[in-house]
Amino acid sequence: MALLLLVTLSAAAAFWFGLIPQRFSPLPQLVLSEPGQWFVGLRLAALRRDRQSCETTLIPPNISAELVADKPIEKGCGWENAVRMSAAGGAALPIGTLTCEMAAALALWLAHDVQPLAKSLFNSSVVRVEHMGGYACRNIIGSKVLTGFRSQHATANAIDISAFRLADGRTIRIAGDWKRQGNEAEFLHEIHRSACRYFRIALGPDFNAAHHDHFHFDRGPFIRCK
Ligand SMILES: [Zn+2]
Repeated sequence: MALLLLVTLSAAAAFWFGLIPQRFSPLPQLVLSEPGQWFVGLRLAALRRDRQSCETTLIPPNISAELVADKPIEKGCGWENAVRMSAAGGAALPIGTLTCEMAAALALWLAHDVQPLAKSLFNSSVVRVEHMGGYACRNIIGSKVLTGFRSQHATANAIDISAFRLADGRTIRIAGDWKRQGNEAEFLHEIHRSACRYFRIALGPDFNAAHHDHFHFDRGPFIRCK
């Protein structure tokens, strides 16, 4: 019984940490154009160590991205299986280095959650996502507990998103619009909630003061949605 439990837990952990590449996974490969796919979190993790599956998953028109050379992790900084991307889910989103897993998560979220909501609330579409960076060799900031630990940004496994520009010229900013009444706030709160399906950590202004002007999304080992 104990052995069975151990085996089950080990298998679950292996999937969780992306140790089982897509080619050995019993779960089907994600398709970026398909909404509402099951086990999306584990299927994103399966991309982590599978460069070939990244190449066949991250394809136009759902995303414009190309794999970049690995930068072996040194002192907690570097990346593996990362892409340079220019657009995802129909919106421009230029970023120099982001893990394949994160890029896929962004493409799914933008196409199946952000764009439909922009259409229904504003009768417009998001043409550009503004961000404050992906890769940064640094520790976690703004936390009293987790000081001295490397941020997921240090392995290009995180992005900080600050605003959404619409086709009609409007820009919806997390700084300001999050706390205002109206469609802009509804949009931001709703897409923050839906982001928790794709990103393990999805933090916004309600989390702490350090996040008053952006959403932090990452695909690290922990779960937090606030
Ligand atoms: Zn961040």
